[in-house]
Amino acid sequence: MNISGVRELDVVVIGAGQAGLSAAHHLRRVGLEPDVGFVVLDHAPRPGGAWQFRWPSLTYGKVHGMHALPGMELTGADPDRPSSEVIGAYFAAYEEHFDLRVHRPVEVSAVREGSGGRLLVETSEGTYAPRAVINATGTWDRPFWPRYPGQETFRGRQLHTADYPGPEEFAGQRVIVVGGGASGTQHLMEIAEHAADTFWVTRSEPVFREGPFTEEWGRAAVAMVEERVRRGLPPRSVVSVTGLPMTDAVRRARERGVLDRLPMFDRITPDGVAWDDGRVVEAEVILWATGFRPAVDHLAPLKLREPGGGIRAEDTRAVRDGRVHLVGYGPSASTIGANRAGRAAVRSVMRLLRETGGGTGAETGTETGGGRPGREAGAAVAAPVSGG
Ligand SMILES: Cc1cc2nc3c(=O)[nH]c(=O)nc-3n(C[C@H](O)[C@H](O)[C@H](O)COP(=O)(O)OP(=O)(O)OC[C@H]3O[C@@H](n4cnc5c(N)ncnc54)[C@H](O)[C@@H]3O)c2cc1C
Repeated sequence: MNISGVRELDVVVIGAGQAGLSAAHHLRRVGLEPDVGFVVLDHAPRPGGAWQFRWPSLTYGKVHGMHALPGMELTGADPDRPSSEVIGAYFAAYEEHFDLRVHRPVEVSAVREGSGGRLLVETSEGTYAPRAVINATGTWDRPFWPRYPGQETFRGRQLHTADYPGPEEFAGQRVIVVGGGASGTQHLMEIAEHAADTFWVTRSEPVFREGPFTEEWGRAAVAMVEERVRRGLPPRSVVSVTGLPMTDAVRRARERGVLDRLPMFDRITPDGVAWDDGRVVEAEVILWATGFRPAVDHLAPLKLREPGGGIRAEDTRAVRDGRVHLVGYGPSASTIGANRAGRAAVRSVMRLLRETGGGTGAETGTETGGGRPGREAGAAVAAPVSGG
């Protein structure tokens, strides 16, 4: 700490979801010590990243393609348990096993230019002055609500996926779900079991994809999002370019008419929604399953945004400021992408530290064991794996 109470260290990781924990794991493996070489800050109350806030009916069995964090498998989880509990417990065990010492709840309000080539990270527990920042703040904190004429006149309830409580609350009601993504279809299929009626409204015709989700297909989808980020455009979600998986549940819902889609309405009325061609739908609820945007407002003082609205990044490194790395952003906004981005960001940060004289005490560049000395991973969830 210097005399002004600002804590100097090498790296601040903002966010302890999949991406932040992966980065923290790799920082530890290259020899940086938590609270000395790096610190992980998260404003959520508990371990689990955004998963801790997901609705109880999103059970672990319904989560597709959740990749384990590097170095510790998630095994033996009950598929009927809420994913918020399963993944919360897994992340907690992970943080404990690798001794990552996440500081929470700590709000990061701004990252700005410091002195001597350092950044200043302003937080609810004081100011840090790192040489590099790994930003892993996800999207959950920035739900996207589109605006439509008349929205404020609606007498019913409007809510977003981020506040979705599960389907039971909608018993006997007429519910409009807006949005053609995975969340929208999941909400509809659940709510249709309880509601008096449901309506699905999407901007474009939803595309359902038959057949298995191959690695090749996944790579192509990631490449499309990557290209947008490279051009400085706001990233689209990886899921938005993969199409909707055609599962047995989706097939059944389509047969029952639950996934019959209406085009986007033109306005919202006090009692529902209306189209210019005279059609109206009356409803008590509008559920906006319209996605999320990157939660990067705290980076605004660094002026990283391009005219296109996005932050241009090469791999994970922000083009306008090579001290800032974005993980879980754009092409790495999936559990597997977040894992890889964490590792790539640490490699890049270690190069930067070597150039700027940081990384004191760290074996810069080579990964060492990781894990708390003398500690075994928790039996239910942990089995060390190689790589990551
Ligand atoms: C409903 C839903 C289901 C999904 N299912 C899947 C799936 O099955 N498979 C898959 O691969 N992906 C899935 N995803 C995508 C998934 O969110 C990502 O794969 C991954 O979990 C995101 O990890 P992350 O670390 O980037 O973000 P998060 O898990 O959102 O973590 C970000 C962390 O940053 C913290 N934070 C944010 N802002 C600040 C701040 N200013 N100061 C301090 N802390 C801050 C938050 O508290 C949070 O803990 C799903 C997404 C949604 C919305």
